Amino acid sequence: MKMIPFAVKKLVFYAYKKGMMKMLGCLFCQIAAREKPATVLYEDDQCVAFQDINPKAPVHILVIPRKHISSLNDEIEDECLLGHLLVVAARMAGEKSIDRSGFRTVINTNAEAGQTVFHLHLHVLGGRIMRWPPG
Ligand code: AMP
Ligand code: ZN
Repeated sequence: MKMIPFAVKKLVFYAYKKGMMKMLGCLFCQIAAREKPATVLYEDDQCVAFQDINPKAPVHILVIPRKHISSLNDEIEDECLLGHLLVVAARMAGEKSIDRSGFRTVINTNAEAGQTVFHLHLHVLGGRIMRWPPG
């Protein structure tokens, strides 16, 4: 069997690490690539915003980076990307007219916070009164 050259393996690993390649089997990578259906509300070269399939509020939008980042626990080199996700979240809230009444942005990280999909995503919730502290 022909061996894969070490340099090729290194390149592939580097591409994964940089989030340049779609993480195989990741639902949100597939949604970003339009391989899985979703109600996409906004997209640009860095992120995609779509409706949550199981909304927890009248407005429930997810904003995800195009590149695969598992969670905030990952080493995040592109700090500007996180800022962009927040800007898009606020824009989505404006488009859904929940900016003035109020909205909540949430990022769950790991099991105790309730993270179930391990591709970083920002929840934008609104259209009802939110309680504090969250459950
Ligand atoms: P979290 O629990 O913070 O990881 O959030 C994951 C969110 O993804 C949940 O609110 C789910 O309802 C949502 N979700 C899971 N699968 C899909 C999907 N196929 N399309 C849209 N939203 C999804
Ligand atoms: Zn992913």
